[in-house]
Amino acid sequence: AHVLVCKGTGCTASGSEPIIEAFQKEIEKKGLSKEVKVVQTGCLGLCELGPNVLIYPEGSYYCRVKPEDVAEIVEEHLIKGRIVERLLYKEHATEEKMRALTDINFYKHQKRIALRNCGIINPEVIEEYIANDGYMALAKVLTKMTPQEVVDEVTKSGLRGRGGGGFPTGRKWQFAKDAPGDIKYVVCNADEGDPGAFMDRSILEGDPHSVLEAMAIAGYAIGAQEGYIYVRAEYPIAVKRLEIAINQARERGLLGKNILGTGFNFDIFLRLGSGAFVCGEETALLASIEGRRGEPRPRPPFPALQGLWGKPTLINNVETYANIPPIILNGADWFASIGTERSKGTKVFAIGGKINNTGLVEIPMGTTLREVIFEIGGGIPNGKKFKAVQTGGPSGGCIPASLLDMPIEYDTLTQAGSMMGSGGMIVMDEDNCMVDIAKFFLTFTQDESCGKCPPCRIGTKRMLEILERITNGEGKEGDIELLENLAKSIKDSALCGLGQTAPNPVLSTLRYFRDEYEAHIKEKR
Ligand code: SF4
Repeated sequence: AHVLVCKGTGCTASGSEPIIEAFQKEIEKKGLSKEVKVVQTGCLGLCELGPNVLIYPEGSYYCRVKPEDVAEIVEEHLIKGRIVERLLYKEHATEEKMRALTDINFYKHQKRIALRNCGIINPEVIEEYIANDGYMALAKVLTKMTPQEVVDEVTKSGLRGRGGGGFPTGRKWQFAKDAPGDIKYVVCNADEGDPGAFMDRSILEGDPHSVLEAMAIAGYAIGAQEGYIYVRAEYPIAVKRLEIAINQARERGLLGKNILGTGFNFDIFLRLGSGAFVCGEETALLASIEGRRGEPRPRPPFPALQGLWGKPTLINNVETYANIPPIILNGADWFASIGTERSKGTKVFAIGGKINNTGLVEIPMGTTLREVIFEIGGGIPNGKKFKAVQTGGPSGGCIPASLLDMPIEYDTLTQAGSMMGSGGMIVMDEDNCMVDIAKFFLTFTQDESCGKCPPCRIGTKRMLEILERITNGEGKEGDIELLENLAKSIKDSALCGLGQTAPNPVLSTLRYFRDEYEAHIKEKR
């Protein structure tokens, strides 16, 4: 039997470490060490119910487990073969149902490609990744494909950047491949900073080798020998697992010189983020890796031509890379058959806010917001009414109940005044004030503005002042129009994506919840 205990950030915070220790001790005490293996994994998804424990071969899912429950689980489940019903996930109430995790609503609408190994393997043991086809895609490209064939496969898959912009990944790879120069770099943007977002953190914690393998594949495709992962310093578990993964890959000849005896050299180095949200913007990120102040610069030149230390550089985010090995192994047509015409594959979302099942989900593109919020997410707690969902973090917008049946795609979300963003999804119920929500996000971007260009530095401050007086009951006639004018000017003139998208939460709430702004202004009169 296998006892899988989640040791991602969520479950670690709710106390999974003592659970692992308790299982190990109890299993040893009962003389079961040969038959039962305790495995620490990355995120299973239902973070809210942690610490989460899965027992195979049955697939029984125990949640909110405490150290004092462990002896009972070992005695009842592992020795006597009886389920401990009081700890079982609520939808696993009957013995027939408990047999497959995929039977429960939270999982049965999901399709896990980027998260394929999260919660399943021990991320600190490279053999577990290899046993699940790990590094097979790298072996395939190095022995059977030319660099151009690799780029063509990525292009044909239709994969678009999962970090927010949605730029076609294959085109980015082609630009970097075609850029002249002997020295090129591959960079992974792991500076996830949107409030409420933890998709990339979970992939790095749960399956770090998938990113390393993809970066090595990218290095072969564009002709680079070095890669850098720029990871948030505030993600200590992810950083530790990346360090372990890089060392293990080097020891087994999967990174470094002459990989798999093919003559291909590629190594990966970590750089810890400096704590600024703007460093997630690619030109600021590159400046920060170089040891300079993390400020964006105008583009062109794009990093694919002039990036790290002025050399051609390919930058993708964690989730984009995590999709690459399955695309190479299963083929572009397989990937392109999932999702919709213009948004292929799946997308990982971190769902939170006023929702029953807070956690991490991966859904095929084209799934509706209603399915995510009500079927996977289990709906709104305490019988409250759904009001809106914020997608795209501080760069995105709020989508109202009238658009719940909208399929989730890059273009539909943009048309609705929001954006895909990196995958934060925060649900609001009838008690939330939408002006407060807009103020929260604008306060965040205002704080995080690097101050380089006046529209963002000064314009967002003026917008925030107006929002503050509206929410304090001191709003004036004309304030809404002033907000709209300022928002337009900032969008048109800010230097980087942070400023260009900062007004989105205000604009989208004005579009769908204008009456709430008007009510605040009228209240005071
Ligand atoms: Fe800095 Fe904002 Fe200008 Fe971007 S838009 S460069 S964050 S001041």
